[in-house]
Amino acid sequence: MYVKSLTLKGFKSFASATHMRLEPGITCIVGPNGSGKSNVVDALAWVMGEQGAKSLRGGKMEDVIFAGTAGRAPLGRAEVALTIDNTDGALPIDYTEVTIARTMFRNGGSEYAINGTPCRLLDVQELLSDSGIGREMHVIVGQGQLDTVLRATPEERRGFIEEAAGVLKHRKRKERALRKLDTMEANLTRVQDLTGEIR
Ligand code: ATP
Repeated sequence: MYVKSLTLKGFKSFASATHMRLEPGITCIVGPNGSGKSNVVDALAWVMGEQGAKSLRGGKMEDVIFAGTAGRAPLGRAEVALTIDNTDGALPIDYTEVTIARTMFRNGGSEYAINGTPCRLLDVQELLSDSGIGREMHVIVGQGQLDTVLRATPEERRGFIEEAAGVLKHRKRKERALRKLDTMEANLTRVQDLTGEIR
């Protein structure tokens, strides 16, 4: 499994559609300060479902949409598509090539798609987390983040290892199940109250 290509359109400084084709192995992105190198990494995190504006070095989520320059008007949407080579079947899906796309409009939330089929954020997260990549998997290490890892407490380090080992997905499923149970219990109590009143 490797990242085959990344396409950005209206994402941060990439106003025009920009397609990057990658090869297996190491890829280096070079360029002058402020030319958008980190924006490419932000796009990777964003398309994989990143929800925190701060992690994307912005104040609010809409900051990922091209804000305009002296010679170019702002855009209304940001789009990123990430294509992963899945010939080794690392992603649990029956396709040898998987494209994950995310679109965000200025006036609304995000839309996601896997191989062109609209899906939920949860579907993207689950698809990626099974393979050990994705948001919160520590596959993207930003500037200054190494410091955070080195200074982490033993509990925090355990968290990093658990996430890398793929425990996170199951913990999140457990949390969702517990929340549903809470709601069910509240509903049951309400039904019991009503039954008591009717009697
Ligand atoms: P350095 O080498 O200094 O770390 P870099 O190449 O990583 O720089 P980035 O941080 O990726 O550069 O890009 C910064 C540029 O992106 C700035 O010029 C900033 O104005 C521009 N930028 C960020 N968000 C937007 C946006 N929403 N719309 C337009 N331009 C943006």
